Amino acid sequence: MGKPTGFKEFPRETAAHQAPLERITHYREFQLEMGEDLLKRQGARCMDCGIPFCQSNNGCPIDNLIPEWNDLVYRGRWREALERLHSTNNFPEFTGRVCPAPCEGACTLGINEPPVSIKAIECAIVDRGFAEGWILPRPPKLRTGKQIAIIGSGPAGLAAADQLNKVGHRVTVFEREDRIGGLLVYGIPNMKLDKDIVERRLNLMRAQGIHFATRANVGDNVDASRLREEFDAVLLACGATKPRDIRIPGRDLAGIHLAMDFLTANTRSLLESSLQDGKYLDANGKRVLVIGGGDTGTDCVATSIRHGCRSLTNLELLPQPPPQRAEDNPWPTWPRILRTDYGHAEAAAKWGDDPRVFSVLSKEFIGDGSGNVAGVRTVRVDWRRGSGRLEMVELPGTDEVFDADLVLLALGFLGPEPALAEQLGIELDPRASYQAEYGEFATSVAGVFAAGDCRRGQSLVVWAIAEGRGAAHAIDTYLMGSSSLPFPESY
Ligand SMILES: Cc1cc2nc3c(=O)[nH]c(=O)nc-3n(C[C@H](O)[C@H](O)[C@H](O)COP(=O)(O)OP(=O)(O)OC[C@H]3O[C@@H](n4cnc5c(N)ncnc54)[C@H](O)[C@@H]3O)c2cc1C
Ligand code: SF4
Repeated sequence: MGKPTGFKEFPRETAAHQAPLERITHYREFQLEMGEDLLKRQGARCMDCGIPFCQSNNGCPIDNLIPEWNDLVYRGRWREALERLHSTNNFPEFTGRVCPAPCEGACTLGINEPPVSIKAIECAIVDRGFAEGWILPRPPKLRTGKQIAIIGSGPAGLAAADQLNKVGHRVTVFEREDRIGGLLVYGIPNMKLDKDIVERRLNLMRAQGIHFATRANVGDNVDASRLREEFDAVLLACGATKPRDIRIPGRDLAGIHLAMDFLTANTRSLLESSLQDGKYLDANGKRVLVIGGGDTGTDCVATSIRHGCRSLTNLELLPQPPPQRAEDNPWPTWPRILRTDYGHAEAAAKWGDDPRVFSVLSKEFIGDGSGNVAGVRTVRVDWRRGSGRLEMVELPGTDEVFDADLVLLALGFLGPEPALAEQLGIELDPRASYQAEYGEFATSVAGVFAAGDCRRGQSLVVWAIAEGRGAAHAIDTYLMGSSSLPFPESY
């Protein structure tokens, strides 16, 4: 523990952001660097708890050694901090930018003070590692002769590939898109995670001997059962890509799109041509209505604002969370409180109001008479606790219409697409995800494993990394009888 009185002396500070009205003029990251002195003070706030709840199963799923690197940063021992960080996290530059930081929700200091700025410290350690040239390719010295196919190149597939390559297996990652990275590339927008940062890590992985095959759609232009024959093990890491749609009258009107179609096309066009090729859904001058919250909804809000939309409304079915933890949501569980994410802050700066409207149920899309969407008719709902569960009740006389020329549906995902499971004969669980025991990762087909959103349902980057690491341990054990790869203890 760096400074026993640190948490009493220094207030919590995190990285400052470029002002909303400035950052909406571009698609670059907008987080500003924290100076070294400030980072040291934040490291000094860590109390090195006897039981570090930041690392508990409510906290970091990959067992990041948080108090250790907080202390090392306080002492200015950055290179050692980087080694400790990389020992549990393959991609801290991703989580340091996009993780909602369950570790901070579980930090002991959070009982009566703002928690330690763990995420900012994590990001600073790895950014410094790259800037100093400390992060270099480390190919394995020996190869085992075993071949592993990984289907899907999101954080789960990449973490598994990195781990399995380290112990000498030959890994090929098959990705149906034209770029590697899964939702790190075609999902999370550039302003939250710059794609050069993803590419920098991929180049290291290539230099370490991992092979990536793009435009390789397994089950379509790559035969799934052939992979099973040609490789010693197969890992399904293909995400929960089946979108939840909304089946209400008027859904077929023009101008209603799935959020992922909007976000993916935007990033592709941005990377290909700085949005000059026109191959994206343009929100410029439109009244945009985003239905659904979460990360996807926020990213649609922020992207539409950057296009120059005329107005923006974000409808949310669930009730507005409380400003503070509710009684049934105590520390160290994840605080279910009202948060203002970057897109909401940008909308508020531009139009003066938070764009979110809570407890609203969409009943019908309204057309303009020429086949285009012109708005959505809604009703307000109340959430009442019935027999233990919250029940939704429509409130009579609360009909209203929200005008819109562009509607984006950010309603979540319903597990992986069915084709691969059908071809390989994989059993599904009751939520239509691949059935594979938590911690074992083995599917119903011998030699085929599953990890990430396709196994646990839509989740977070940090959980995908945890699952990829866990699956690597399981596959290595399956192939070699035992494994020296670490296994996330949080399971
Ligand atoms: C818009 C959006 C924003 C998000 N923002 C955040 C955030 O800020 N922070 C956070 O922690 N989490 C965020 N998430 C969640 C996070 O991105 C996911 O939980 C995580 O990426 C899941 O990783 P994965 O590797 O399991 O799958 P994915 O990242 O979904 O990757 C799966 C990959 O498999 C490929 N694939 C699928 N089928 C095949 C096939 N048959 N053949 C070949 N390839 C195939 C897909 O093309 C895809 O590239 C966000 C999600 C979305 C949708
Ligand atoms: S719970 Fe908070 S204060 Fe305690 S060790 Fe973890 S980061 Fe430090």
